[in-house]
Amino acid sequence: MIVGIPKEIKVKEGRIAMTPDGVLELTGRGHKVYVQKGAGIKSNLSDESYVKAGAVILDRIEDVYGIADVIVKVKEPIESEYHLIKRDQVVFTYFHFASDKKLTEAMISSGAVCIAYETVMNDKDGSLPLLTPMSEVAGRLSVQEGAKYLEKPQGGKGILLGGVPGVKPAEVVIIGGGVVGHNAALMAAGLGANIKLLDINLNRLRYLSEILPPNVDTLYSTEMSIAESIKTADLVIGATLLVGARAPHLVKREMLKEMEPGTVMVDVSVDQGGCFETTHPTTHADPVFDVDGIVHYCVANMPGAVPITSTRALTNATLPYVIKLVEMGWEGACRQYQDLRYGLNIIKGDVVFKNVADSLDLPY
Ligand code: NAD
Repeated sequence: MIVGIPKEIKVKEGRIAMTPDGVLELTGRGHKVYVQKGAGIKSNLSDESYVKAGAVILDRIEDVYGIADVIVKVKEPIESEYHLIKRDQVVFTYFHFASDKKLTEAMISSGAVCIAYETVMNDKDGSLPLLTPMSEVAGRLSVQEGAKYLEKPQGGKGILLGGVPGVKPAEVVIIGGGVVGHNAALMAAGLGANIKLLDINLNRLRYLSEILPPNVDTLYSTEMSIAESIKTADLVIGATLLVGARAPHLVKREMLKEMEPGTVMVDVSVDQGGCFETTHPTTHADPVFDVDGIVHYCVANMPGAVPITSTRALTNATLPYVIKLVEMGWEGACRQYQDLRYGLNIIKGDVVFKNVADSLDLPY
């Protein structure tokens, strides 16, 4: 099979979908791998290292899409890539269709087979093995970014997350206690902040309250508990997920009036549409905007800011699935592996993931 690895062209995205180690696993099995020139540079992976692993370097993105049976990417194709995707081509990447109707319609018309990292699911425990590593990165980064934008010169209130002896620490509210929420809580707790972590899953709250440090309080998530908690928060992190579906707006615009100016809200769920009503996607080039005095950070590809960490974390998780797809073809691999089958979102013009179809009012 022929595998293509194009360069990621989302603004300031530094990840690449496969490391040279992964390429060697494929070329060693007799497959051909084409990598776009310079695609690994921001992750500290040179063209030479890919050639050593048996890849062929192609200059232009058109050539990579043009030759490959399977495209392996990191982020969803952006508009300038839509026309490059061919009928029957398999595209394995993050798509987050529910928040992007234009992308969904383009992929329907392309006739490609779209397998989304974010819905590949282990049905024994409901975990999302290809979302998890990037959620770990984004959860940790959300606190780092939140701390930065809380600084006065960055537009924030001017409060240090951990305080200092004799001065109280900041209050952090995290909505959603999954992988992002857990990692955000760990980081914020380590810095010495006081944290409220909200979720609707009581078993998850029980688990988190057992394993997290004492400066993390768990709270059952309702409209009222969210409204009350964010009134006094310095940093609010949105970290909910309903797999494949558009995120519900849990923080309404009117709630912002009750918050102190300079509070920072980081909506990690922005890739699924965002869990704050006032969210819209931003980029690493221009990450924040202001609504009613509240600083919003809503970057949809947060892990792209730390590509050296993120590329390795992502490809450790994706490689076994890429090998299955390439060795068995998408139909064989999805027939045999239920977790990969959950990743199927669009097959040659048909939306086959119910939450995506429902979120966008499309036939299923
Ligand atoms: P997860 O499934 O591990 O956790 C989601 C949690 O949200 C679950 O525990 C669930 O019970 C909880 N939840 C659902 N509805 C809720 C509600 N009404 N109130 C409170 N909690 C609620 O998901 P995750 O891996 O932590 O991912 C969270 C989001 O972050 C996803 O949308 C994911 O795509 C996104 N993400 C974004 C980036 C980025 O760069 N912006 C990177 C990685 C992940």
